[in-house]
Amino acid sequence: MRKFLSSVVIAMCTLTAMAQNKIAVYAWETLKPVVNEDSLRAEFEMWKSHGVVGVCIDGSYNLKNIATAARIAHEVGLEYHSWMHCLKRPGLNPEWYAVNRLGQSAYTHPAYVERYKVLDPANREVRDDLTRKAIAQAKIKDVDYIQLDYIRYADVILPRGLWEKYGLVMDEEYAPADYCYCDRCVADFRSRTGIDITKVADPSKCKEWLQFRYDRVTELVNHVSRNVRKATGKKISADVFPGPTLAKQMVRQEWNKWDVDMLFPMNYNSYYLEPAQWLETITREEVESVSFRKTQVSSGLYIPPISPEDLGIAIEGSIKAGASSVSLFTPKYMTAEHWKVLDAVIKK
Ligand SMILES: [Zn+2]
Repeated sequence: MRKFLSSVVIAMCTLTAMAQNKIAVYAWETLKPVVNEDSLRAEFEMWKSHGVVGVCIDGSYNLKNIATAARIAHEVGLEYHSWMHCLKRPGLNPEWYAVNRLGQSAYTHPAYVERYKVLDPANREVRDDLTRKAIAQAKIKDVDYIQLDYIRYADVILPRGLWEKYGLVMDEEYAPADYCYCDRCVADFRSRTGIDITKVADPSKCKEWLQFRYDRVTELVNHVSRNVRKATGKKISADVFPGPTLAKQMVRQEWNKWDVDMLFPMNYNSYYLEPAQWLETITREEVESVSFRKTQVSSGLYIPPISPEDLGIAIEGSIKAGASSVSLFTPKYMTAEHWKVLDAVIKK
């Protein structure tokens, strides 16, 4: 009885604490190959005490681990987003990979780094494989959302803050990372527009060709989303580049056209050499671009480089601009000072 009463008291305290929070927080995490239930639960509970309402978890397609983590999240009282790598996946059918402007497959000639093996979003087998995998995860009882990440083309222009790392000046589209020039996409584009893109001197200036690629990603997202909802009734969230203006330029995500329930734009100001105040500006564009759909926008914060002081500015700016929540990538890099600032800001 005493134990029962104390847990009621704990639950009431948690409710009171939650009611005082004005801002909802999401947290991202990747599961270990063998899930330790006790440490995962302790982590979820710790996050929840700091205002976290939902978790975005990379279960690496392991259905058993996802079921365990989702159950624990629900027991703790957290929403569960099952995070999926979508178009950057190694080890699949070599025919499924995208082909760049130089005619090279991402399977044999990935851009930037060896692991950057990107799939062709227009390939029907890629689409069907992804849809099957999303439905399998969505069928798990405690999974609330399927979260799509890497649902985009490769970075045809890298964020300004990464140019030095790769020794590149990216003032124009980078041919080795410019996809989709496989025979099928080239033929499909020609039949729709009459343009042979392989004969165009600067394909990055061809508006129809840009739109063709935005549409391939949008179609893929909407196909997965429609089928997951139909098969399971579950919701869809997606991780996207900031924008959508920047997202279109860099990775061809016209995400304001996506039929999803929630968006997690990666508003990582350090990538773009922008100050924390930029979060308010970019979040405003994001929220306005999807306001007609009422899609929720959770402003993504990149924790290792952001100082506690800037974290406060970033959160306040995001919420002022209309974000429904903020998300932490990743909470394991939050210092005691970061948590202190977050605790104070979300109660304001
Ligand atoms: Zn293609």
